[in-house]
Amino acid sequence: MNGEMVIQTTGLSKQYKDIKALEGLNLHVAQHSIFGFLGPNGAGKSTAIKLLLGLIRPTGGQAAIFGLDSVKDSIAIRQRVGYLAQDPRYYQHMTARETMRFAARFFYKGPKEAIEARIEETLTLVGLENKADRPIKGFSGGERQRLGIAQAQVNYPDLLILDEPAAALDPMGRRDVLEVMARLRKHTTIFYSTHILDDVQRVSDNVAILNHGQLVAQAPIEELLAGTTGAAYTLTVRGDGRAAQQALQGQPWVTAVSGHPNHTPSHTTLQINVNDEAAAEDQLLRLVLANRQTAVTAFGRKKYDLEEVFMQIVEGGQAK
Ligand code: ADP
Repeated sequence: MNGEMVIQTTGLSKQYKDIKALEGLNLHVAQHSIFGFLGPNGAGKSTAIKLLLGLIRPTGGQAAIFGLDSVKDSIAIRQRVGYLAQDPRYYQHMTARETMRFAARFFYKGPKEAIEARIEETLTLVGLENKADRPIKGFSGGERQRLGIAQAQVNYPDLLILDEPAAALDPMGRRDVLEVMARLRKHTTIFYSTHILDDVQRVSDNVAILNHGQLVAQAPIEELLAGTTGAAYTLTVRGDGRAAQQALQGQPWVTAVSGHPNHTPSHTTLQINVNDEAAAEDQLLRLVLANRQTAVTAFGRKKYDLEEVFMQIVEGGQAK
């Protein structure tokens, strides 16, 4: 592999008659990342995935996977990619192990005598080792998805593409699938689509946000969550908080201090926006506690919710 980019698209577009499903997508997915491809239903996520896999042809632009062309080299690409479709179908009477054997017949390229061991290993990786010999018809939604991931993983792919792997699951099923994805990360690069913000926040390190066929943001998740306004801290003090507010206002690294009503009337919570996190972490508490009358009951960095960021980006229409 020529370095670090597993997926690289330039101006990738797909138009169905008069519907622009995907417009000018420029995507960069680095090796060993776990990349969340986020967008509401109809945003164009599945279309992009099918283009990456060479299952459909672009009407504009191109996609390179491992530096190979998605149209010309789709067979070579698919030998190195594991793919889980949005709604995987199984033969219900077959057991998990039989299903894996079935997949291995098509995809497994290793030595024949190692197949059974690889199946066992892959089922263990997704936490299905105890259910290996049960028929799939008794499996929960989460177990089915994990089996799908095991199938996609059997041939040691360099890239796993998962289309909405957790969308239809209950909270426990989702948690299990997300855990499996986090675990697989050391073996491969994972690119997965979702419309659920919380999933992205829980497992991705990079995220791209798609809306109406267009990329509206692409960044490491920490960067997106840091927001455009810089970091913020919250501080809860006993009393009305005026002394703390005075101590902080006027510091060169403080951009705003605001008081928030508190559910315990005897306490006040302040939000402090800063433009220099190192200075804030060194000095903020010290400055406040220099006043011996002030008692601090809570202090923390305000975590931005991806939902807030998503709404800001999508509604504000601002591209990054
Ligand atoms: P997502 O996966 O984000 O839900 P899709 O990629 O499935 O979005 O769809 C993007 C847009 O393209 C939608 O408006 C959808 O109706 C349209 N679309 C998808 N597949 C086809 C197709 N085969 N023919 C016509 N329109 C399609």
